[in-house]
Amino acid sequence: MIKTQNLTKIFRTEEVETVALNGVSINVEDGEFVAIMGPSGCGKSTLLNILGLLDNPDSGDYLLDGEPVANLKEKDRTRYRRGRIGFVFQSFNLIDELTVEENVDLQLRYMGVPSKERRERVTEILRKVGLSHRAKHYPQQLSGGQQQRVAIARAVVGKPKLILADEPTGNLDSKSGLAVMELLSQLNAEGTTIVMVTHSQHDAQMASRIINLFDGQVVEGSERIL
Ligand code: ADP
Ligand code: MG
Repeated sequence: MIKTQNLTKIFRTEEVETVALNGVSINVEDGEFVAIMGPSGCGKSTLLNILGLLDNPDSGDYLLDGEPVANLKEKDRTRYRRGRIGFVFQSFNLIDELTVEENVDLQLRYMGVPSKERRERVTEILRKVGLSHRAKHYPQQLSGGQQQRVAIARAVVGKPKLILADEPTGNLDSKSGLAVMELLSQLNAEGTTIVMVTHSQHDAQMASRIINLFDGQVVEGSERIL
């Protein structure tokens, strides 16, 4: 599903140049659950953002489902992403002015799904993440764990084949974190491919494979199949 070859990404400001990715080549097969680990600043989020078409690399190739996507314009990346890739962030990134069900529904509106089907799918996904009783609440009225489960509902309501999660349990206590990890495992068991950045060895154990990054490179020989 994912095949990258020699991805590089350099961030330049007036004073400094940061090589965030320095030749990253990885493959992820359909149905895998891959954990990306490594110290802070080693390029994990940069890589995930490129994999999720939120950003382009400076050089290198990226084939997503066999299609070259490394050099798409922003407009085309957005279009390609919709309904294909679900993104989950550490900080939830819900819209505070919208209710839980409106946050989830927005994704389907963007995709142009008819309103009756939207209602059914929002109801179904909120039931799945255990938040039917919170549908009319606003994000600030929920616990962190609940907010992250709304974010996951939003990420998967479009039935994407790929979920990218950047430290999804990073802001959660261990009990809420476990609920989020169980949800991701369940989605993976149902066939969704998952690539997750995590600092937690415990969370990484739920994955089927670990890729370690260091200074913008994959640590060769470090890969672990679980
Ligand atoms: P990680 O997620 O592993 O902590 P990141 O991918 O966020 O690491 O960052 C990799 C490196 O690139 C870091 O040195 C970070 O400071 C730098 N970086 C990331 N994003 C930007 C940006 N938008 N502008 C400048 N530097 C950035
Ligand atoms: Mg990061």
